[in-house]
Amino acid sequence: MIRIYFAAPTWSEYEPWLPAALTAAGIRAEILLEAPDPALIDYIVYAPSGPLADFRPFTRAKAVLSLWAGVEKIVSNQSLTQPLCRMVDPGLSESMVEYVTGHVLRHHLGMDRHIVNPGRIWDPTPPPLARQRPVAMLGLGELGLACARALQALNFPVQGWSRSAKAIDGLETFHGRDGLREVLSAAQIVVTLLPRTPETENILNAESLAWLPAGAVVINPGRGPLIDDGALLAALDAGRVGHATLDVFRTEPLPQDHPFQAHPGVTITPHVAADTRAPTASTVIAENIRRSEAGEPLLYLVDRARGY
Ligand code: NDP
Repeated sequence: MIRIYFAAPTWSEYEPWLPAALTAAGIRAEILLEAPDPALIDYIVYAPSGPLADFRPFTRAKAVLSLWAGVEKIVSNQSLTQPLCRMVDPGLSESMVEYVTGHVLRHHLGMDRHIVNPGRIWDPTPPPLARQRPVAMLGLGELGLACARALQALNFPVQGWSRSAKAIDGLETFHGRDGLREVLSAAQIVVTLLPRTPETENILNAESLAWLPAGAVVINPGRGPLIDDGALLAALDAGRVGHATLDVFRTEPLPQDHPFQAHPGVTITPHVAADTRAPTASTVIAENIRRSEAGEPLLYLVDRARGY
């Protein structure tokens, strides 16, 4: 019997799914919502919104399994010596694809002109076809690639950018500083699905925003610090950026007095782009525990030095 410490505030969501997923994976486990004796715990299910910050007493834990895809709040925790796995969940990817395609289509089709139309102006200008609307996807991981594929299926020409060089069937890919300049220079819509790391902080800054064609749209469901807020506001005011749809912020909830709140060129969504879904995530957690118990390599291991 293994002991799993569920150190996240969402047990009610997982209760109908996680025990069944463990049983289906052939794991006999006791799930604990508190860990009065940390030395007895074999696995930790973790969320930054949970109670756990000091991993040192968990001397026997074989892995920390994050419920979140983004691990910036735990990756530099010095007390963490156990392997850390991030969440890769089909349900999470599905919701990110829906968010990104929805917001891309909003801007592509110019929906605001008709929905926000207090003067009831009859403007019959048709939008271009998707094939005429280049999109830059910054980040080609689980989420970025899924979104790139969904946009390609709608005929958007997508160029992708990542840290390492990639060869992906049917997708034009770039990396490095020059690659960033190239994808941004061509993009009418840019989507940021990068993790927050020291390297990605302020990746959209005054210089890189200036590479975008005038009027380009920024959609950021990645992390707030990917964008230099002041540079984005200046680019919006200058018309270099036509609109920004932002789901994530340096401070969340976004303070009421933040200049984004009142800016007509900014759409704010409250970190809802994609949520880990208990039915599918439970299977992912159970499979990783099964692998660990069978001596197989863990899936979705975080590279602590790289930061994601
Ligand atoms: P992955 O780790 O699968 O992918 C990350 C991608 O970013 C990879 O393509 C990686 O490049 C690229 N990348 C990392 N660092 C750099 C860099 N310095 N320069 C260029 N590219 C870089 O992550 P996911 O796709 O699963 O998730 C992405 C992010 O989405 C999460 O970290 C999180 O911040 C955010 N997120 C937001 C949610 C929301 O609701 N708003 C929900 C879930 C996640 P390479 O392929 O070369 O390694």
